[in-house]
Amino acid sequence: MSVRLIFRCQFCDAQPDPLTQISLEKSVPELMWGQYEDAMPQQWLIWHGRGLYGPPRYACNAHRGDLVAYLRDHYGTIGPHPWKRPPYPTNLRNPDRDRAIAAGGRSAMPKWGYGPQVK
Ligand SMILES: [Zn+2]
Repeated sequence: MSVRLIFRCQFCDAQPDPLTQISLEKSVPELMWGQYEDAMPQQWLIWHGRGLYGPPRYACNAHRGDLVAYLRDHYGTIGPHPWKRPPYPTNLRNPDRDRAIAAGGRSAMPKWGYGPQVK
């Protein structure tokens, strides 16, 4: 069984192209908090919110500025994270954590070899 995640821009109906979709999918297991990330190649902007900063949010390239403005408006008084200026990293992951996640480190159930493969 495979699960396809659907990403939509928060401000329009844009959906990412296949390569950007992959970048967005890779961002999901992260344990980031209050950080921006660029999803290439279409340059979608990911907001890793969580906690006080709300859910993760996504914006297409045309609406990156809208997302930043929205976040600063809603969360700008909580802390400095929404005010971070570009350039944003395109990859917040590190290989050790990727391997741990692929091995089921974030799951309550072992994956019996069917988990995502880290290359
Ligand atoms: Zn958009």
